Parts: sequence; C-alpha cells; structure tokens
Amino acid sequence: MDHSDLLNLLYVAVPALVVIAGGGTLIARRRRGDDTTVDREAPATPADVEVPDAPVADDVVVETPPVPTVETPAPAAGRLARLRDRLARSGSPLGARMLQVLSRDHLTEDDWDELEETLLLADVGAGPSAELVDALRTQARVQGLKDPAQVRDLLREQLLALVDPSLDRSLATTPGQAEDGGRTPAVVMVVGVNGTGKTTTVGKLARVLVAEESTVLLGAADTFRAAAADQLETWGSRVGIRTVRSDKDGADPASVAFEAVAAGIDEGVDVVLVDTAGRLQNKAGLMDELGKITRVITRRAPLSEVLLVLDATTGQNGLNQARVFAEVAGVTGIVLTKLDGTAKGGIVVAVQRELGVPVKLVGLGEGPDDLAPFDAEEFVDGILG
Ligand code: GDP
Repeated sequence: MDHSDLLNLLYVAVPALVVIAGGGTLIARRRRGDDTTVDREAPATPADVEVPDAPVADDVVVETPPVPTVETPAPAAGRLARLRDRLARSGSPLGARMLQVLSRDHLTEDDWDELEETLLLADVGAGPSAELVDALRTQARVQGLKDPAQVRDLLREQLLALVDPSLDRSLATTPGQAEDGGRTPAVVMVVGVNGTGKTTTVGKLARVLVAEESTVLLGAADTFRAAAADQLETWGSRVGIRTVRSDKDGADPASVAFEAVAAGIDEGVDVVLVDTAGRLQNKAGLMDELGKITRVITRRAPLSEVLLVLDATTGQNGLNQARVFAEVAGVTGIVLTKLDGTAKGGIVVAVQRELGVPVKLVGLGEGPDDLAPFDAEEFVDGILG
C-alpha cells in the first residue's frame, strides 16, 4: 500500500467510523429512552429493559425506562371557536363568498343566481338555498343593502336560522338506572361507513368525556377492519381507558358490544362507547347487523345515543349513505368529520334537514383534540370568515 492508497483509506475510513460512532450513540440514546421522538404509546416491556451482566461502575448512571404517561386531554368547551379558522382552510368560506356578491351595487338577477349557485356548491341543498336567497331578496327590498355591516348582520342572521341554534345538541352521556335499582352506563353507539373517521371519532370522543371527568369503556365492535380494534385500543390507552375487543378478526360484533356493555356495568363506568363496522353492504345486511347489536346492547342497558359519522367531503353520496343509516339505526346525532378539508360546510344544513337530526360534533383535523361540540353561532361566524 503506497502513501496515496493510505490517504484514500483514511478519507473513507475516518468518516465511516464517525458515522458508526454517531449511530451507536443514537441507538444508545434511544435505548435509554431520552430521544423525544420515541413513540410514547409503546409501553416499555420487561423484555425491552437491558439487564447489565457485570456490576455497574459508580460513574455510570442507569436510567429507568420512561413509564408511559396517561395524557390529560384538553377540555372541549369553546373548541369550535378556537378551531374556527380551519373551516376556511380550503378556500374562501361560503359566507365570505356570499358577502362579496351582496356588497355589489344594484344586485341583478344574475347576482341572485350566483348567490344560489354558491350555496348549492357548498352543499347547502336545493330547498334551503332557495329559501335563503328568497329571504335575502325580501330583506333587500325592505331595507336595502347599502351598509356593509348591516349586510353582514343580515346574512349572519339568515345563515343562523338555517343552521338552527334552537336544536338540542347535547350528548346523552349521563348514566341511568336499571330496573333492579342498579346503575347502567350511558351507551353510545357510533355508526357510519368505514373511512368516514368513525374509529378516530370514538377515540376523540373518549378524550372529550375523560376531560369532563367521566369514566369510559370502549367496545371495539368493528371486527371487520383488521386494524380497527388496535387503533381503538391505542386511543383508549393514551387516556387510561380500557377497550373490550375480540382477538379474532371477523368475530361477531354483537357479542363484542354485549361484552363491552356487560363490563361497563360491572366496572360501574359512566359511558360505554361502541365502535361498529360500516361496510357498504346492502341495506338489509346493515339493518341485520346493527339491529342485532342494538338488541344485545339493550338487553343490558338502554342506548343513550346513536351517533352517525359522516365525512363532510363526500357531498350527495354521503347524504345518501346517511339516509340509509338513519332508517336502519335510529340516529340521534350526527358527527361531521373532515370539515377542515372542505369548503362545503353547507352540508351541516342539508344533513339536518334531510334527517331531522342535529349535528352534535364536528371533526376539524386529525389531531387527538380536533373534535368540537357543534355551536351554531361559532360555525356561522367561521363560514362568514
Ligand atoms: P373509519 O374507517 O370510519 O373508522 O375511519 P378512521 O377513523 O380510521 O379514519 C379514516 C381517516 O380519516 C384517518 O386517516 C383519520 O385520521 C381521518 N380523519 C378522521 N376525522 C378527521 C377530521 O376531522 N379531519 C381530517 N382531516 N381527517 C380526519
């Protein structure tokens, strides 16, 4: 090996040694658990903990692996106000676009058509859109539409009337009393087509309830999607909640639901949340499945809520699905997810009209606390921009 070969070797070998040493440090850091990127949800098992063979020297600090911490979720009150800007994330919000048209001088027939089209494009639905434009035209004739602040107030008032602030949007999560005098948990069944955000919603809702100091148990009755039970269990464990599940894929969802409610009674929890599968099968199949789950649950405790999860980005298709679920499952409230990803907030109006059931919660992101109780005024202010 001549002199230049030796130099070349050094050029290659020294950086390689530095990389290996650096990697070794990183691995050591990860083993010790002081890397903040380590997934805190994966609890350290005894097998993960290395036992030193030889006695440890005085200057070596042995760090205990981190104990998985139970998170304290943020309270849900006022969340829609805080997350309001997400309603406008994907383009100009509906109300702002309407204000733009309404602030034009001398509104023509074309302008009114444009307003109606704007409402239709935001999925408000034909009936409510026509109603809103009629009401605005009447007001325009009576009061004129000169002062921008007055126009904004007028539009706000009309949109609010459509969203209907008088609807009861509270969640029935108070435990009840059994015939024998015992206490029964409030049972909330969550239904909807897979992919709409059902399991995520159950997880987020569990956090909302924990933040309100309710005790909660989860039932993983979505036994058709392989990962659903694991997903739910992870959500629960983050806030110290147990999940009743079957280890078999394709197990009978009704028996998981039954077990979950039975465990909820035994453990004296306040609320049992039951996630279900929403395969897009035919209506008879869906009716059979949800009917059976409902029957077994109600043998032990009354169903307090049936929440239908609907993906706000799916428009008319989503509304058609909603109709089927409403017919077979006796829906008591709607959760509209993915409102952060769409300018089609008008679906709030359409779905309430269509089903006669209030929107109770809205999903505004993938974060664990991105589920907000629906508030009509905050929502309208959000879409007015
Ligand atoms: P499921 O099949 O109905 O149980 O759906 P999942 O709960 O697995 O959710 C499907 C996807 O939708 C996941 O990637 C979620 O993170 C996402 N998701 C759920 N809710 C929201 C939401 O409000 N906003 C956004 N942007 N994504 C959401």
